Amino acid sequence: ANQNKTHIGLIGLAVMGENLALNMESKGWNVSVYNRTVPGVEEGVVERFINGRAKGKNLHGFTDLKAFVESIAAPRKIMMMVRAGSPVDELMEQLFPLLSPGDILIDGGNSNYEDTNRRVVLAESKGFLFVGSGVSGGEEGALNGASIMPGGSVKAWPEVKPILQSIAAKAPDGTPCCEWVGPAGSGHFVKMIHNGIEYGDMQLIAEAYWVMKNLMNLSNDEMANVFDGWNEGKLRSYLIEITTNILRHKDKSGDYLIDKILDAAGQKGTGKWSVINAMELGMPLGLIATAVFERSLSAQKGLRVSAASQLIPQHASVTLDKNEWIDRIFSALYASKLVSYAQGFAVLQRASDTFGWQLNLASVARLWRGGCIIRSVFLNDIADAFEAADKPEHLLLAPYFCKEMQTLLPGWKALVAQAMTAELPVPAFSSALNYFYSLASSDLPANLVQAQRDYFGAHTFERKDTARGQFFHENWTGHG
Ligand code: NAP
Repeated sequence: ANQNKTHIGLIGLAVMGENLALNMESKGWNVSVYNRTVPGVEEGVVERFINGRAKGKNLHGFTDLKAFVESIAAPRKIMMMVRAGSPVDELMEQLFPLLSPGDILIDGGNSNYEDTNRRVVLAESKGFLFVGSGVSGGEEGALNGASIMPGGSVKAWPEVKPILQSIAAKAPDGTPCCEWVGPAGSGHFVKMIHNGIEYGDMQLIAEAYWVMKNLMNLSNDEMANVFDGWNEGKLRSYLIEITTNILRHKDKSGDYLIDKILDAAGQKGTGKWSVINAMELGMPLGLIATAVFERSLSAQKGLRVSAASQLIPQHASVTLDKNEWIDRIFSALYASKLVSYAQGFAVLQRASDTFGWQLNLASVARLWRGGCIIRSVFLNDIADAFEAADKPEHLLLAPYFCKEMQTLLPGWKALVAQAMTAELPVPAFSSALNYFYSLASSDLPANLVQAQRDYFGAHTFERKDTARGQFFHENWTGHG
């Protein structure tokens, strides 16, 4: 409508914001950019960007929030890429008096989905629209194509769709990795589960590496070749690809860098949040939990060094023969990955049912095929499974995956058993296997757990020989 107004505004010129602004501009959008100026914080951020990377481009810098807002065409679209948490709330409070009805705020940071639930309601109560959007792919994705998971005020979608889809990564079939997720904080919830799955995938690949290195005595180059081979098949993915590159990488002194990196993993908490929320929803997410706990245990390096000499002074010596075992490691990795995704999608389904989000799981799987850390060809199979006319009750019950699991089980269980005998930890492979066995057990010992609960706490139990929903209490001790 207004020819001299910009298409979109972007607030927060740190790595993500700068790169997203450049990405938008490169797709033909005129962009207004703003960063706060706080004496003593970092000053001149806007000037540096406008005179640096943004030079000669259709990017317009502002240090005054009102002028920034007024420069954007109605209905305004303003994307916030600021530190998650209170900065988003503070910014919203500053923006509200400057906005007009129907204007759209987009939070592209890693916000907690419950904050987004609240912000959607708040913004709508003032006549504005609010989109909480997960953005995955880091700096590189922000610049060249990210996986974008928008949710919130659905009326905003037609307005923001052309811009967000234009800056999204494209899946191998050309589809943009950006589709409407659902209402309220669903976009940020989906992003959180994505990050949890990323923790799981990384731990699983690390375990495959560990078995090859310790039980097969493969060299870094030999392992890189195995991963390279896997990257041509069903496990083809970004994380397998970078693992190959990491294993081959030599430092300046010509040594393999991987062997010099301290085995103490850090974390920023996104894996933890997935697990906390799965627990809140009463859903198993054991593989991701294991991955998070293994990072915590890895960080206790000193304790492990002491325990290693005291608890298992002499390791059993086991060497595995090549080809047969590579197949088994493949089976363990692929089957465990399937379990992890099945658990993650089941949490999404439960969240959708609990919060009334009506998530489309096939669409979520497709969103992750490009741009993000967990991108892989296997997400196509997951999307197909969820899209089948007979929607599976659980991902592993989709006919294709059910068959895959049957094929993988012999190698997977042999590998876990062998690693246990060799005293080599494969916590995620075995967590996945135990989940699989529990899932595939029509009977579990939970009858005893219920009896115990009723014994000490009168928590009651249902019976196998009466209808479900009838609860009984037993006088276990015979005392009145
Ligand atoms: P960041 O370090 O998380 O945030 C820095 C930005 O937030 C700066 O522009 C900063 O302004 C601004 N800010 C902080 N407090 C503020 C306040 N009270 N009011 C207004 N602005 C404030 O930057 P980032 O790494 O680019 O990430 C941005 C968001 O994207 C975060 O939510 C992050 O979690 C998410 N994200 C990051 C990545 C990644 O790979 N880095 C990937 C996906 C998502 P000043 O310059 O004035 O301090």
